[in-house]
Amino acid sequence: ESKSKSISIMAKILDGLKVSKEIKKEIRADVDKIVAGKRRPPHLVAILVGSNGASMTYVNNKIKDCKEVGFKSSLIKFSSTVSEAELLETISELNKDKDVDGFIVQLPLPKQIDQEKIIMAIDPRKDVDGFHPENFGKMALEMDTFLPATPFGILTLLERYQIDTKGKHCVIIGRSRIVGKPMSILMGRKDFPGNSTVTLTHSYTPHIEDFTKNADIVITALGDPNFLKGEMIKKGAVVIDVGITRVEDNTEKGYTLTGDVDFESCKEIASAITPVPGGVGPMTRAMLMKNTILAYKTSVYND
Ligand code: NAP
Repeated sequence: ESKSKSISIMAKILDGLKVSKEIKKEIRADVDKIVAGKRRPPHLVAILVGSNGASMTYVNNKIKDCKEVGFKSSLIKFSSTVSEAELLETISELNKDKDVDGFIVQLPLPKQIDQEKIIMAIDPRKDVDGFHPENFGKMALEMDTFLPATPFGILTLLERYQIDTKGKHCVIIGRSRIVGKPMSILMGRKDFPGNSTVTLTHSYTPHIEDFTKNADIVITALGDPNFLKGEMIKKGAVVIDVGITRVEDNTEKGYTLTGDVDFESCKEIASAITPVPGGVGPMTRAMLMKNTILAYKTSVYND
């Protein structure tokens, strides 16, 4: 009976939850030292507009993470009818506040507010999301800056698992400003992780499987549940799943968080794979903490 069964070697799980815990522990140790030296702890402020379910969860998690690593955190809430002027005024105050090291404006914002204007108003030195064009430009030029949390989390995961990226073909699906596009730049930079040959694909890419089948590393960030099937990847590929979509079902919560990767079929073919949940998500959370302590160190220690 056993003879007829083919031996399948399961991909290595890139455990983002475990690595994120390690990173948070490292940050906590750093903060404990800072506080023991009679300095104030780092302080992150989150601005939340409206009551979008996913946004509220994200912000609450960020506050929770701050507590865990020993940061001070503040939450500024606005109703969904807040004016752009009011929001800009708050940003201007946070920019000036010496007690605030970094702040984030949870996206998306309601229609009456110009997202670009808001991002542009954030002092790049406090832009711990790494969304300001100055920081994006520095990233693209391989200068020191805040990397956007999700790409930073993926790089760190690849680094901690010592995934070889040099000379590899990396195919990215999705070109958003916060994930796909920066990821494509970072994987192509002259560094580790990096030095990959990058193909950036999107909704206008015909026959996407022709690209993914030739990829050593596939990074999916499109937001289409179970999009990437095992038959679309090469044997031994490394698969990084950024997608998180709430797929409605009959569970108690009413939905299940689902990735862009069909985990069941891909895990049989890939050499390494991130799960959802427990992969890129927790890494993203940890990297916001990392950026905040970086902001703290450049501001407080330069005073
Ligand atoms: P987004 O702004 O929604 O953009 C999606 C991108 O995917 C676009 O570039 C789009 O192409 C492309 N795309 C859509 N359908 C496609 C298809 N069938 N084939 C090829 N490309 C396709 O993306 P995002 O904000 O980066 O989010 C992507 C997913 O990641 C979402 O599920 C989101 O919830 C998740 N996410 C997770 C984390 C995390 O921490 N794990 C962080 C951020 C986002 P066009 O440009 O042509 O429209």
